[in-house]
Amino acid sequence: MITIKLPDGVIKEYSDEITLADIAMEISPELAKHALVAEVDGELVDLSTKINDGTHTVRILTEDDERSLEILRHTTAHVLAQAVRRLFGDEVQYTIGPALVEDSQYGFYYDFDLPAPISADDLPRIEQEMRKIIKEKIPIERLELPAEQAKERFTRLGQKYKVEMIDDLVKNEGVSSISLYKQGDFIDMCRGPHLPDTGKVKAFKLLTTAGAYWRGDENNPMLTRIYGTAFFDEKQLTEHIERIEEAKKRDHRVLGKQLGLFLISNAVGQGLPLWLPKGTIIRIELQNWLRDELFKQGYQFVFTPHIGKVDLYRTSGYYPYYEHGLFPAMEVEQGQAYLLKPMNCPHHIQIYLSAPRTYRNLPLRLAEFGTVYRLEQSGELSGLIRVRGFTQDDAHIFCTPEQLLEEVESCANLAKMVLETVGLNDYRVRIGLRDPDSSKYTGSKENWDLAEDNIRQVVRKLQLDYTEEPGEAAFYGPKIDFITKDCIGREWQLGTIQVDYNLPERFNLEYIGPDNVPHRPVMIHRAPLGSLDRFIGILIEHFAGAFPLWLAPVQVAVLPVSEKSADYAQKVLKQLQDVRLRAEVDASPDKIGAKIRRWTMEKVPYMFIIGQREVENETVSVRKRKAGQVGTFRLTEVIELLKIERDTRGSQEAFT
Ligand SMILES: [Zn+2]
Ligand SMILES: [Zn+2]
Repeated sequence: MITIKLPDGVIKEYSDEITLADIAMEISPELAKHALVAEVDGELVDLSTKINDGTHTVRILTEDDERSLEILRHTTAHVLAQAVRRLFGDEVQYTIGPALVEDSQYGFYYDFDLPAPISADDLPRIEQEMRKIIKEKIPIERLELPAEQAKERFTRLGQKYKVEMIDDLVKNEGVSSISLYKQGDFIDMCRGPHLPDTGKVKAFKLLTTAGAYWRGDENNPMLTRIYGTAFFDEKQLTEHIERIEEAKKRDHRVLGKQLGLFLISNAVGQGLPLWLPKGTIIRIELQNWLRDELFKQGYQFVFTPHIGKVDLYRTSGYYPYYEHGLFPAMEVEQGQAYLLKPMNCPHHIQIYLSAPRTYRNLPLRLAEFGTVYRLEQSGELSGLIRVRGFTQDDAHIFCTPEQLLEEVESCANLAKMVLETVGLNDYRVRIGLRDPDSSKYTGSKENWDLAEDNIRQVVRKLQLDYTEEPGEAAFYGPKIDFITKDCIGREWQLGTIQVDYNLPERFNLEYIGPDNVPHRPVMIHRAPLGSLDRFIGILIEHFAGAFPLWLAPVQVAVLPVSEKSADYAQKVLKQLQDVRLRAEVDASPDKIGAKIRRWTMEKVPYMFIIGQREVENETVSVRKRKAGQVGTFRLTEVIELLKIERDTRGSQEAFT
């Protein structure tokens, strides 16, 4: 007897073996037509799976279920492998082809060992073959074979990578049977599940080829990886391709070079950005702005060194648990080892400890643009987004438990203000909680419960849109992360606020309360931008290099039409510099059209064009980025407008 529970509560009973496709058909022919895969007792399986007995919860998935996308992409990867094999013959070795659902560009890849190299030029031909396979609507069948037989089968096919994988599965995981999938003339080894036939693959595109070592090990053969993506309809695919194109144009690594903002030099080291003069201006502007805000909010700034004793990090609990993420310790004196600091907290804690504290001097808010070092894997490094040395807009607030909620709230308000000022208005909040099953966290359950509760209270009070994610906490306490969407819809994690009852305990921090006895303060770790380096990388992409006036490295380009207006151009420059507007005169002999093109490429917010008439009338002809020519104005008048635009950080824009 078979009992099937459906999501709507309906219960169906069958006396004979039945497939999930049959169940779908029985629910409705319409559902059967759109059915892609099924969920049985929480596990995704093929529609062809047979149920023999027992009681099961069953859900039939169509493209409306977001989990179907992974199955679609995975199936498309198999279609790709089949096409490559048809086109390039039996010598093609196919290895693995996973679906990617989190990746912002690619939806799947497949790695091949090919008899002859291929390039991106071959992709249209492969796509064509894939379209044929889709049109053939080949059923995709699952076979379960004893490992030995599966191995024989792939040996016969000359697929040595598959043979190796089976051997490993048997040896390392004690697997005795292997699931194979057959679609027409093609057979692959896979856990599944898949779509029922190749005709269910809809909109797809192959995107690029790359080299990839077998199993990511450089001692192994180099394989050819083909990347692609797939969606359930053409519209989504087209939008995705457009988004990739837009993201390419905005790539901060490309723009950073083109605009002269920063440099990653191999001579210095991977993941260690060097800030060029123009990029440094953006950094200084962000720092000045933030520093002014923090002074207003009662923060005090400190400087601390880039290294500290290993023992300091042992006390904090960071070492040795996170040793793999650190540059190795440096032993400089007998038995005395130092670390490049991975975080600023222990240094700030020492400053707290340097004087007796009472409730009267709390909260103590110590801020620092502190540079920290973390040993990210070289394969993970990417421009300014993943680096090995970066500067945090860090601060630690030491307060009494009674002050905590108000302090967390003002940190959250600061983070909101920061995001809104730079136009990253679309954000959500993620509350990172501890993973109850993990031992990597320090401190008592009571402290953690308390801190998690504090954080929830603040987020609810501020009515922020939030999700809770276990396992995302810092090792010493839970956190609030601000996750923003940029103007092309990509999500970035930025500011963070963390509540910490544990480090104060580990470092034995105290203050004298109104009752004249010692109490334990609470710590807040917070960084509204997170890493300045990463933040600017994100801003470069968000603005596509066209920074708002207050951040633009060159704010005004002064373009004399000819030699005759050169003197006046210098006068204009001087007047701009007098009010700290960053300007450059283009004194090149080029025609005015060429000058405008050059400074358009530089993405400068304003150009002042100066011809004979402007010289005579002491005016400038103003050209605004995007808007183009906006008219001729008295120089003094324009300067006033630009000052307002700069000082209000764009909220009062000139010439709108
Ligand atoms: Zn598969
Ligand atoms: Zn900290």
